[in-house]
Amino acid sequence: MYKTIIQDLGIYQGNHLYLKREDLLPFSFGGNKARKAFLFFEDFDKGDYDCIVTYGSSSSNHCRIVANICAQRNIECYIIGPEEASEETANSKMMNLFGAEIIIVPVTEVSTTIENKINKLRREGKKPYFIPGGGHGNIGTQAYVDCYNEIQNYGVKFDYIFFASGTGTTHAGLIVGKLLCGGDENIIGISIARRNPRGRQVVIDSIKEYLNNNVISDDIINANTIFVDEYIGDGYAQYVTSVEKSINDVLIKFGIPLDPTYTGKAFDGMVNFIKANNIKNKNILFIHTGGIPLFFDFLNK
Ligand SMILES: *Cc1c(COP(=O)(O)O)cnc(C)c1O
Repeated sequence: MYKTIIQDLGIYQGNHLYLKREDLLPFSFGGNKARKAFLFFEDFDKGDYDCIVTYGSSSSNHCRIVANICAQRNIECYIIGPEEASEETANSKMMNLFGAEIIIVPVTEVSTTIENKINKLRREGKKPYFIPGGGHGNIGTQAYVDCYNEIQNYGVKFDYIFFASGTGTTHAGLIVGKLLCGGDENIIGISIARRNPRGRQVVIDSIKEYLNNNVISDDIINANTIFVDEYIGDGYAQYVTSVEKSINDVLIKFGIPLDPTYTGKAFDGMVNFIKANNIKNKNILFIHTGGIPLFFDFLNK
């Protein structure tokens, strides 16, 4: 499996900042969805399957990567997408380029459409493998347990780890990794869309689903799950002007692109969180979870 580098960015606003470059995972613009997808395709290979069904919007990084791997391996790929988020984007253009079949329905019909599609494929004699949207589930969590272990082995003791938290398994995996090896970083997910208490609960549910055997108490899991929903702006893909400023700042200072939906919003949230909590002279790791095609959508606005 691929590992990613941690880049030392030096002192940034009073703290020592490091960036874990998940965006550089060497497949299809990388990102956390690449790390998750590699594990889903390992699972696909273990079973008797011959096509993929998944779910996501037209700007989904997950769907881009899954469609790219399917095209590379000549596997049929079916993507169910919500009509409400179906405008053309760099990611949706690539999904088309990869020959994925994209089925657009109103968001309320998504789950029945997935079920119907899987049943129809089975009736046709095919063997569909379903990947939940965003690479959710224990396999997605595993990908970020692995990532946490890379972070632990880097050789710097991080006081804080920040990243964009969306469907929850990136967040869950990092916390599980920490709990299983007794780490003591503050792991802080910056929500890009969901509000508390639901957003945090989804992360906790993913942690418990993965740990299954209850070796770690609910109290410990609850105390370690920090889901910050203060920097969402008006919701998914909506952002305030300070996000734009942070994107420009990081691009100019470090030559690293962020996007307004995920990494830019989370980075800006981190900067505000650091100010609000008066955090100084700490080692801070920001995980760049990818989404580079969304940076180009941002430039084209
Ligand atoms: C999906 C995504 C996230 C959020 O990851 P989750 O595991 O869904 O919480 C963060 N950043 C980028 C770029 C993403 O594509």
